[in-house]
Amino acid sequence: MHIDVLTLFPEMFDGVLGSSILNKAAETNAVRYNIVNFREFADNKHKTVDDYPYGGGAGMVLKPQPIFDGVANLKEQAKTENPRVILLCPQGKRHDQRLAEELAKEEHLIFICGHYEGYDERIRQHVITDEISIGDYVLTGGELGAMVVIDSVVRLLPGVLGNEESHQRDSFSTGVLEHPHYTRPADFRGLKVPDVLISGNHRLIDEWRAKESLRRTYERRPDLIEGLELTDEQKAWLIEFKKQEK
Ligand code: SAM
Repeated sequence: MHIDVLTLFPEMFDGVLGSSILNKAAETNAVRYNIVNFREFADNKHKTVDDYPYGGGAGMVLKPQPIFDGVANLKEQAKTENPRVILLCPQGKRHDQRLAEELAKEEHLIFICGHYEGYDERIRQHVITDEISIGDYVLTGGELGAMVVIDSVVRLLPGVLGNEESHQRDSFSTGVLEHPHYTRPADFRGLKVPDVLISGNHRLIDEWRAKESLRRTYERRPDLIEGLELTDEQKAWLIEFKKQEK
């Protein structure tokens, strides 16, 4: 996968893309990152990228020219067919695991990080394919949003996580939240690990995990259960959880 990012603050990406799994993904060529300051595409003498809003009001608006030309340049360099051009924006589609899975199938992603008051509307209308928000709050810029989306996508690329299964069982991938985890020691200052997990019986362990996954989802995110096709066993567990509440 090729990932371009257009930003006014490229240095913000160094720590995140240069560490841990995201860095290893680049070292093993699962992904190639290209972080570009779109100020370099500004065609005016002072390399200005923003201007006052027509009609007045507070804040500065990103001009169309540097972003139109920046995206055209990145498309030309990468020579990929139809890259997804993603604008980070609090008004966009809320990011989630399904969208991360969809983006992980693409060959080329271009992220545009806004700053200041916002973008000239013509960028929205003519340059981008997607608008993504990382939540219902307003950040100072799109950089943190781009990093969140990139992290959620790159960890899904083949070979990036050591154990392929480790993302397939993650919360949301399965439609429910993940079950609790425990590690050694089995008895930590009197706090014991559930017996079933040290029983060596894999059928019972799988059953315990499935049940605890559903319990956690029922307790924390009942909205997720509404969209699931439940097995008879899961329906029975839900009745049991409801009874235990009383
Ligand atoms: N005036 C804009 C509005 O009300 O929609 C907010 C602009 S915000 C201060 C500056 C930039 O931060 C945005 O253009 C966008 O790139 C980024 N941003 C802010 N909140 C975001 C969010 N929740 N998700 C993704 N990007 C966000």
